[in-house]
Amino acid sequence: MLYIRCKHKYMTWLRSIVLTAGMLGLVLNGPGLASAGVHPGHPAPDQGKPSLAIIIDDLGNGMKGTEQVLSLPAPISVAVMPFLPTTKTDAERAHSLGHDVLVHLPMEPNKGKKEWLGPGAITSGMTDEEVRQAVLNAIADVPHAVGVNNHMGSKITSDRRIMSVVLDVCREQGLFFVDSRTNFRSVAAQLAKEKGMPPVGNDIFLDDQYNLTHISKQMRSVEDRLKQGQDCVTIGHVGVPGLYTASVLKSSLPRLQGQVRLLGISDFVRNVWGWDPHAVQPTDKR
Ligand SMILES: [Zn+2]
Repeated sequence: MLYIRCKHKYMTWLRSIVLTAGMLGLVLNGPGLASAGVHPGHPAPDQGKPSLAIIIDDLGNGMKGTEQVLSLPAPISVAVMPFLPTTKTDAERAHSLGHDVLVHLPMEPNKGKKEWLGPGAITSGMTDEEVRQAVLNAIADVPHAVGVNNHMGSKITSDRRIMSVVLDVCREQGLFFVDSRTNFRSVAAQLAKEKGMPPVGNDIFLDDQYNLTHISKQMRSVEDRLKQGQDCVTIGHVGVPGLYTASVLKSSLPRLQGQVRLLGISDFVRNVWGWDPHAVQPTDKR
């Protein structure tokens, strides 16, 4: 709890409790993971529809909403922080349920408390070799990782030297990097393109305010984007907003699954960006 807070705002959310209780009671009749095409190699039945990847950050520390997110009957990608009490169990459980796992790599922010970073963080004072080793250590600590995204990181993602090392290590390990876009000056996408990696990043934060009204509004923004034919990556969190985020996703999934290709993030980068983690020179086909 102490470590993991992407956001700095604490919103009043008591007014949402009644709504939450109602939404949590909804029963979802969507398809199971196997029929949702989550496993690589299964032909997707909905070619031509816009693609959606849902990433939930901040797993690894037994945070509120973890179980509700993992039990969603759709491919949800989870970003698990390294070196924390439930890092291994959350990653193993997510993988066993068919969800993609990302390493949620702590990176120094411009603002925010250092204790929110968690262990193994990338900081601006590190040498290239220290960054390289820290990324390798984090990847090694999170089982089944198919990619990496940043926890916090508004300072580091705008640092060309450090991000270059981070992306090099990802690429060498056959992983892609998802920019959470905590800083509009982030160089991650540009660098990824230069290195032949998919410049994939967050399009919409679901729960940057911790209440059901806002999260539902953000979900409608996701759907509006998809209705316009645009692919979308959206990021939510376990922790303070976790139960709200899980309940909004749960009530939205039946609708989404008819309209879009709901993909794990690895299938998303494969389908949208043409990324092949085994290729020597991955191509950017967008
Ligand atoms: Zn985070």
